[in-house]
Amino acid sequence: MTKQGFERFDFQPFILEALSELKFTKPTEIQERIIPSIERGESVIGQSQTGTGKTHAYLLPILNQIDPEKQEVQAVITAPTRELASQIYQEIGKITKFCKHKQITSKLFVGGTDKAQAIEKLKTQPHIVVGTPGRINDLIKEQALLVYTAEKMVVDEADFMLDMGFIEDVDQIAARLPENLQILVFSATIPEKLKPFLKKYMDNPRYTHVAPEQATAAKVEHVLVPLRHRNKLSLLQEMLEAYNPYLAIIFTNTKKMADEVADRLLEKGLKVGRIHGDLPPRERKKMMKQISSLDYQFVVATDLAARGIDIEGVSHVINYELPSDLDFYVHRVGRTARAGYSGIAATIYDLSDEDALVKLEKLGITFINLDIEKGEWIQIGERNKRKTRQKQVDEVEKFAQSKVKKPKKVKPGYKKKMNREIEEIKKRQKRLKRK
Ligand code: ADP
Ligand code: MG
Repeated sequence: MTKQGFERFDFQPFILEALSELKFTKPTEIQERIIPSIERGESVIGQSQTGTGKTHAYLLPILNQIDPEKQEVQAVITAPTRELASQIYQEIGKITKFCKHKQITSKLFVGGTDKAQAIEKLKTQPHIVVGTPGRINDLIKEQALLVYTAEKMVVDEADFMLDMGFIEDVDQIAARLPENLQILVFSATIPEKLKPFLKKYMDNPRYTHVAPEQATAAKVEHVLVPLRHRNKLSLLQEMLEAYNPYLAIIFTNTKKMADEVADRLLEKGLKVGRIHGDLPPRERKKMMKQISSLDYQFVVATDLAARGIDIEGVSHVINYELPSDLDFYVHRVGRTARAGYSGIAATIYDLSDEDALVKLEKLGITFINLDIEKGEWIQIGERNKRKTRQKQVDEVEKFAQSKVKKPKKVKPGYKKKMNREIEEIKKRQKRLKRK
């Protein structure tokens, strides 16, 4: 009989206990495929889409191999944002609390917190260090954090580390770790620019790529809602009211827009949280707590703030604007339908989004076209794609041209006059169409 669950790995009893409390009954695909390599001490690159359980793919084998008797740093885990680092830290706590014979200790170090206090915390070195690369590197330089004993290092969300310019800090941290370092890199994408770093620290990494069946989780319903010259904030509000979601995240491209949207929804009496890079650290922390305890029905967020964060129970993702980088569409939508739940991703679009929508369709995303009418969702026809629009334009042009007779002898100013007349006819046609 093959083992279905986590028993196939050589996990200590406390880990199996924790898994049973977490209600994880069997490993996800990336976990199944990568945990054995990590247990063998190999360096790995784990690539799989958002929401496929990468965190536990490295946490479980790392925690399994910590020796609590040795009071020294044994693993360094880096993540690109404070929230993500703090989330990983919490996940560690949920497992280590079952290790009762001797405590496994972990400490969190992120920017925006008191450094003197962090140094104070390091009077005894923890077994596991979790944090953002900048702060960890800082504490190493201060000689407060002693990492030369750590034989394992995790780089989570490596592509994002690169985008944020953190890879240099990550590099400097890695340089302080022992020669025989086991490095575990996780990412939803492995960009070309990451390769120099990977080559520098990994001789022969085991590369595990769990290819998505579709560009985003299969159970997401992708909805397109045309703006059609309406007020966007009003449309959003109508959508939210019609959905009445369990928990919706509304994405905007900028902090300013996030505030604008959040203020408006607040004004209308909706329970709205917001999370973006301008919030002071303490506020962000408080906000994350409130979101986790479901204090809000709506959360307005920017990509940066939301990246990698696992908020349980996100039922709806709303793209108030399409992201300029389409990878973010996949990341945003990855907030919903996690670990097998279904979810809805709704995008408000207008004509200028056509190219982006075509690209998303090429990634294998199938949209359904809906609109709101008197507070109800209705099915509408497919959006006007460029081709059909172009055809309409051509037809108007031809019609207009046919109406303006070309004189046999071309007088000066003729071209101007003809163009003026064509414009007039086009305008008239448009007016007619609108009626
Ligand atoms: P990723 O890092 O790949 O984006 P996460 O590690 O954040 O994904 O995991 C996504 C969700 O799946 C989390 O809520 C996590 O608790 C849950 N999860 C992870 N592994 C399992 C498992 N084996 N069984 C059930 N749920 C799991
Ligand atoms: Mg992750």
